Amino acid sequence: MRKPIIAGNWKLNKTVSEAVKFVSELKEKVGGISDVDIIVCPPFTAVSKVADVLRGSNIRVGAQDAYWEEEGAFTGEISPLMVKEAGCSYVILGHSERRAMFGDTNNTVNKKLKAVLNAGLTPIVCVGEKLEEREKGITKDIVKDHIQGSLHGLKKEEMSEVVIAYEPVWAIGTGKTATPEQAQEVHAYIRELLADLFGGGVAESVRIQYGGSIKPDNIKNLMSQKDIDGGLVGGASLKVDSFEKLVKYREG
Ligand code: PEP
Repeated sequence: MRKPIIAGNWKLNKTVSEAVKFVSELKEKVGGISDVDIIVCPPFTAVSKVADVLRGSNIRVGAQDAYWEEEGAFTGEISPLMVKEAGCSYVILGHSERRAMFGDTNNTVNKKLKAVLNAGLTPIVCVGEKLEEREKGITKDIVKDHIQGSLHGLKKEEMSEVVIAYEPVWAIGTGKTATPEQAQEVHAYIRELLADLFGGGVAESVRIQYGGSIKPDNIKNLMSQKDIDGGLVGGASLKVDSFEKLVKYREG
């Protein structure tokens, strides 16, 4: 049985004080929930203070990226160990915005992934096709390339620690959600790919989140699909009441 996992990716939103206010309120609203893993991913600047507020709660903190080196002359970068000590237990890797705007490739995602696993953190590895790729009918080729390239060289036991997020780029921040059937088809395909690479047992245990314009009114149908184990949420994770509804999707 895979435990549902709902993560809020705040992107470049919220100052430290805004982030602290948000999680102080959220903690009160979702405190009783133990059957969903709840994660917030603030900007780096807010991680430490957010983690202080959430210590001892049922909400975990994630970083939005991490570099593969432990230390050195890498201006502007931050290491897995740094985010871990600041209070993170998860790290998002290979988000499509980073692939499109900040030069992330399968190769750099793979290096980051290994560094994040080495630090004992849980990576959330993002994969997904652009609109023109879906229209060309090459969604599965793109997803296969992202999965094989990003996860290259991982051992079975390492893969068991990884969370995958399928995020069709055309659905991110656009208001266009993939239908539950469209998402399920790709999630099932990802599980097949994982079975080929790591064996059926690992493939069955890995959690695959959907991401792309998830909202309180569409999450329940998405979560009802067999291979959808959670959500990676941007816009709808920025307000306490909508994130609360997402976490409580079963009640919706
Ligand atoms: C995301 O950034 O991962 C995302 C899915 O954003 P949104 O929910 O806003 O589409």
